Amino acid sequence: MLLTGVLGWPIGHSRSPAMHNAAFAAAGIAGVYVPLAVKPSALSPALAGLVALGFRGCNVTIPHKQAVIPYLHRLTDTASAIGAVNTIIIDGEKMLGDNTDAAGFWADLQAQEMAPPSLQQEGALILGAGGAARAIAYALANHGIPITILARRRQQGEALLTALHPYLPPGVSTACAPWSALAQMAARHQLIVNCTPVGMVPHPSTSPWPQHLAFLPRQMVYDLVYNPETTQLMRQARAHGARVSNGLDMLVHQGALAWSLWTGQPAPVQVMRTALR
Ligand code: NAP
Repeated sequence: MLLTGVLGWPIGHSRSPAMHNAAFAAAGIAGVYVPLAVKPSALSPALAGLVALGFRGCNVTIPHKQAVIPYLHRLTDTASAIGAVNTIIIDGEKMLGDNTDAAGFWADLQAQEMAPPSLQQEGALILGAGGAARAIAYALANHGIPITILARRRQQGEALLTALHPYLPPGVSTACAPWSALAQMAARHQLIVNCTPVGMVPHPSTSPWPQHLAFLPRQMVYDLVYNPETTQLMRQARAHGARVSNGLDMLVHQGALAWSLWTGQPAPVQVMRTALR
């Protein structure tokens, strides 16, 4: 039996078990994915317990994504660059930390044809400078796309870029701007990615984008928020003819990549998408 799960606190709300267990069933693999509610104070014994019980690995979510790092034997370059782990692969006694958020986002961007060659010139505007923004900035800049981070605390944006730079290809353009520069920055980027929680349930009528500020029809807006499935930001962008996506399929792809790391098989992405919904 292939044992996997998701480690977080609280974890009862997670839709990941449905997604991964459906994938095991569809692939005919005797595997199980369980929610693992672990208090911050119990992180160390919980990880040792997974190894002792013969788990193949687990996902890691809030509040443990950074806290697990000291307990792992090795990190992938991606996890080091992002400074957070969302997937652990256990091989015997050894725990490897990886992060599939960046690759999951990039996979979805490509699947939706939202990464045209023109993006290499026009670049992306990233709203927010937290954990998700770092994964998105890494994914885009690593593919040669110029990025501007818009942070309400500019220091946070600058710290993000400083941490990321050693892992980026030479010559890729990165910048940081204060939140007050949003209107000025708006039209200069072809892709806008919302990496703030603004617009999420229980505040679905809010948006990080000012009501009066237009979008250009050639712009694309990717909202990492997926609850509600259509956010206020997506409605605003659509009203101006811009293309939009929520973050649901990023969630599917990051899960599919983790599932493949544990099983060594291509993931049944469509089955996982259906189960998640
Ligand atoms: P986080 O680490 O808390 O970062 C949130 C960022 O947004 C911070 O820079 C924060 O600034 C900024 N922010 C918050 N409220 C703001 C506001 N009113 N105006 C301007 N900036 C604001 O959170 P995270 O883990 O990066 O997650 C961000 C969002 O992405 C969440 O909604 C999460 O659910 C979503 N997400 C989705 C996926 C997916 O697979 N689709 C994956 C990861 C995350 P301060 O630090 O100043 O508050």
